Amino acid sequence: MSRAIFWILLALLVYFAVRAKLRAAARKHEMHVPPQRSAPPAAAIEDMTSCAHCGLHFPASEALHADGRDYCSPAHLRLPPHQP
Ligand SMILES: [Zn+2]
Repeated sequence: MSRAIFWILLALLVYFAVRAKLRAAARKHEMHVPPQRSAPPAAAIEDMTSCAHCGLHFPASEALHADGRDYCSPAHLRLPPHQP
């Protein structure tokens, strides 16, 4: 009878050991999956514009405006617009 109890306990031990190992492996696999990247917040997205003289692209918030055109610097503000 004690032999039967020994084998039952051994089987339970193996069962729980295997289950713990599988759970650890599953958790490790989950960690390798890259997290879902959410879209950047709207505040991080800035409109871009290009300089009417040199064509440089830069944030619209840094633009200098003259005659309805955007310029990258005060020096280019005084120069004529780029002719394509
Ligand atoms: Zn420019």
